[in-house]
Amino acid sequence: MPTDGRSGSSGGKRGRRGSVCSFCGKSHRDTGPMVEGPGDVFICASCVDLCHNIIKQERRKVSATQPLFGTIPTPRQIKEYLDQYVIAQVDAKKVLAVAVHNHYKRLTHADTAGDDDVEIEKSNVLLIGPTGVGKTYLARTLATFLNVPFAIADATTLTEAGYVGEDVENVLLRLLQAADYDLEAAQRGIIYIDEIDKIGRTTQNVSITRDVSGEGVQQALLKMLEGTIANIPPQGGRKHPEQQYIQMDTSQILFVCGGTFTGLVDIIKRRLGQKNIGFTSESEQATDIHTAETLEILQQVSPDDLVKFGMIPELIGRLPVTTVLGPLDQDALVQILTEPRNALVKQYQRFFEFEDCSLEFSEESLREIAEKALERDVGARALRAIIEELMTDVMFELPEHHGRGKYVVTGAVARREEQLFDSVDEERQKESA
Ligand code: ADP
Repeated sequence: MPTDGRSGSSGGKRGRRGSVCSFCGKSHRDTGPMVEGPGDVFICASCVDLCHNIIKQERRKVSATQPLFGTIPTPRQIKEYLDQYVIAQVDAKKVLAVAVHNHYKRLTHADTAGDDDVEIEKSNVLLIGPTGVGKTYLARTLATFLNVPFAIADATTLTEAGYVGEDVENVLLRLLQAADYDLEAAQRGIIYIDEIDKIGRTTQNVSITRDVSGEGVQQALLKMLEGTIANIPPQGGRKHPEQQYIQMDTSQILFVCGGTFTGLVDIIKRRLGQKNIGFTSESEQATDIHTAETLEILQQVSPDDLVKFGMIPELIGRLPVTTVLGPLDQDALVQILTEPRNALVKQYQRFFEFEDCSLEFSEESLREIAEKALERDVGARALRAIIEELMTDVMFELPEHHGRGKYVVTGAVARREEQLFDSVDEERQKESA
């Protein structure tokens, strides 16, 4: 930014009419009205804008050099926070808590490290587990706790630059948008990459056409995970007049990758040379991940297994922390319905309170709902839809009820054998009968 723009031909002109901008040297004819300062100094509107942007960026730099947290939460504190929202998955919560603690410790010490210091590698995390068991939710909850920007990407929509689809850089753009274009904050954010297993050059996968592109995407992701200065096209309707690309350093971003890795169990079993390999007969499909028994095997996963699965070794090397999430059983689903701070049951109860009513779910109804969710085989994801289907009619009528009633969702209501109605109304009906 030039502090003295009166270079060249612009130096001479003075006075309101013939004034030139002291910063860019343009005449008032080109720039429009200017602001005059003491001692024949003028500034045009676009230089005012530019100054404004520069000062904003400088302020952000100052705030970014301040520590991210007063004190970095301990792994135990992180896990205790996760416990309030995420049911079961104890191993994953512990592993993530440690990885995240170390990650942010590493960041805060990076500025003070001398040349001879030990170089601590970034601990990006790989989460393996079936659909709807909390992989994305864990990453999101972590970001909320740490108050850092968070973005989600689906690896299957990513393509190598130049191909139809989404460039890897767009993921970074999304993080930047989540940070409200605060580059420094975005560079310390968390990115969750879903379906990372779907871009493997899998030999089990029959699709030969995907083979090449899968590896290409892995290469592109690898660069981002390793740490690179990425050029991000600033789309999204915001003004960035001076630059065509925003340069974003990915070396401090924490990447959490997730996938179901169907078929991985068989690879591990083969390596372990298990006697019980016999029961995965050739006629059988790839072993399903959704059982407690396969969970034990999955927990023994090694980097080699993942490479056999189709991930490139370099990418696996950049995901040094691996943890396995188990399937959620009926008990866990009931807990998810009732226990987390934002549990669905609690949310509906609050809505009923707003209308001066109360709502209860019987134990039997909760088990019914969980059972239905299990049948859909998408983990906890089904719970919301099932409860919503159940409650829509009541929620539709509720604001018009003035009964201060008590509603009880019984097993029969959950099975759709009975309607959910106001128990006060019910008594009234009995009385009038
Ligand atoms: P995935 O493992 O496929 O990434 P998500 O984390 O997106 O699944 O889970 C979908 C939704 O289900 C979450 O938004 C959350 O509401 C709920 N959920 C899943 N697992 C859990 C869990 N272990 N504890 C509490 N809620 C969960």
